[in-house]
Amino acid sequence: MRMDSKQQVRDNYLRIRDTIAEAAVRNGRKPEDIAFMAVTKTVAPELVNEAIDCGITLLGENRVQEWQSKKDAYRSGVPVDFIGTLQSNKVKYLIGEIRLIHSVDRLSLAQEIDRQAQKHGIVQDILLEVNIGGEDSKSGIAPDALPGLLKEIAPLSSVHVCGLMTIPPPCSDTRYLEAMQELFLKTKEIPGTDMRILSMGMSDDYADAIRFGSDLVRVGSALFGARNYH
Ligand SMILES: *Cc1c(COP(=O)(O)O)cnc(C)c1O
Repeated sequence: MRMDSKQQVRDNYLRIRDTIAEAAVRNGRKPEDIAFMAVTKTVAPELVNEAIDCGITLLGENRVQEWQSKKDAYRSGVPVDFIGTLQSNKVKYLIGEIRLIHSVDRLSLAQEIDRQAQKHGIVQDILLEVNIGGEDSKSGIAPDALPGLLKEIAPLSSVHVCGLMTIPPPCSDTRYLEAMQELFLKTKEIPGTDMRILSMGMSDDYADAIRFGSDLVRVGSALFGARNYH
């Protein structure tokens, strides 16, 4: 590990933290109300720990196997969220260890989370992932289908839906962020829901996402540098 990669993470962390704080204040919000998640895919544990030393208090994992191979090397005590595409047969590895699952987009997955959480005697917090751009290639449910899915999940006693997550299409304006904020506010009004977290914003758009109501930004490459998948 080169010393300068750690210094890079430190510099990036401070810059992003300041940008988050500025975006929050500019929009009449408190900096401490916006969660700054470090997205760790492909990143060496040593650099993840450097981010934790800087002040990161939340990690985001995309792949069950990669997380399992790295988690023992992470500094302990930092909550981990799951943000990647999730197959039902992998749910059992997450329950009891993952704070929040961001990427639930179908009833069958929620049912499996419910079953596994019941076994552990816990209630698992989840977010529903919305495909706000209507892209064929992306997971997430269509905005129109959201109320129906909420209704189907409501009877599951060991899962708790506490918000929405989205990965908007690459776009030079803020139309998808706006649409997602509107959907989040509308969903909040549905009786019986507990919409507290809008998980929105990545390296390229986290400041704009905060402007449109994000409570949690998921930052990878802006913090750790470009990913190397090899
Ligand atoms: C990789 C990833 C991120 C972070 O992406 P960057 O553009 O590198 O910040 C955020 N959310 C999800 C779901 C991801 O898979």
